[in-house]
Amino acid sequence: MAARLIPGDGIGREVIPAGRRILEALPSSFKLNFSFVNLEAGFGTFQDTGVALPDKTVETLKKECDGALFGAVSSPTKNIPKGYSSPIVALRKRLDLYANVRPVKTVAGAHSPVDLVIVRENTEDLYVKQEETFMGPKGKTARAIKEITEYASLNIARMAGDIALRRQRVRDAGGDSIHKQPLVTITHKSNVLSQTDGLFRESARTALSEEKYQSINVEEQIVDSMFYKLYLKPSHYDVVVAPNLYGDLLSDAAAALVGSLGLVPSANVGKDFAIGEPCHGSAPDIEGKGIANPIATIRSVGLMLEFMGEEKAAAKIYSAVDANLEEGKLLSPDLGGNAKTDEVVEDIIKRL
Ligand code: ATP
Ligand code: MG
Repeated sequence: MAARLIPGDGIGREVIPAGRRILEALPSSFKLNFSFVNLEAGFGTFQDTGVALPDKTVETLKKECDGALFGAVSSPTKNIPKGYSSPIVALRKRLDLYANVRPVKTVAGAHSPVDLVIVRENTEDLYVKQEETFMGPKGKTARAIKEITEYASLNIARMAGDIALRRQRVRDAGGDSIHKQPLVTITHKSNVLSQTDGLFRESARTALSEEKYQSINVEEQIVDSMFYKLYLKPSHYDVVVAPNLYGDLLSDAAAALVGSLGLVPSANVGKDFAIGEPCHGSAPDIEGKGIANPIATIRSVGLMLEFMGEEKAAAKIYSAVDANLEEGKLLSPDLGGNAKTDEVVEDIIKRL
């Protein structure tokens, strides 16, 4: 098997090697023989070569597509040089990674337990970026198009259904969880946007009523009250499926429930390819200090493996991470500890 590593910028260059060490340390009984190739992308790459996402990186990913791990890219907010745009956004487009999947989970015994996954549509909605500015009756006016297709909505809802079933399989095999039954929550605002969000809602309902998903409880939640309830009673939610914009907001809001960005993984998923990506950025404030929390990346390795069909290896990684957090002896500074990145990695490897 081949895994592609794209460290990117900042602490991406510190946490991706940690992810690699975890893959290399997986017991041989899983029969996963990974070969690794580092690929270039990011702002550093742009400064060196003039392109943020070299064609060679995309070609290599397309040709040898088992899975990949993406670190972080720094996104300059001021003085953005001409020609620079985020390579991960471009990668999602060029590889048609139509879903962004973000699990958020607290450790066992947490005061307010959370164990949910946000499944965000990743290609359309307001992110089709068709905007215009013109002079209207009230003067200067800007307008954006929100585009929802039945096709993408069906696909994302099926992905949510498949994830709910997979989580149930893990529970049935003895995995620890606060849930007993699979639940998919469809979130939208079709009371106001009856056509666009209405189509999303209807398509998601249709997809989840398919035979395969009969064992899943399906509910709906208008997005504003979704945020409200997410904060009041996060333990209610199992899998939440949302169109692009609401999913973006919900993903960050849900990540805040567990205390550190350094814990939260994500995956960009297409038909037959997944890129694991910690949900934090390049964290320039701690770069080079060797204290970045590697857990978001290590959990992203687990996610990548899940989407490659290696559920058992993924479960092994998750439980090693949980054991490290539950014991709480070797924690990085963002979690109140004083362990270095390498010490956390070694502790987790010991538990594999
Ligand atoms: P970028 O522009 O690349 O997103 P940023 O300045 O927004 O960079 P983030 O990476 O988004 O920084 O991080 C936000 C805050 O969370 C920073 O203070 C950072 O140090 C902290 N943080 C993020 N990831 C980690 C991690 N893995 N371990 C410890 N702290 C982290
Ligand atoms: Mg950031």
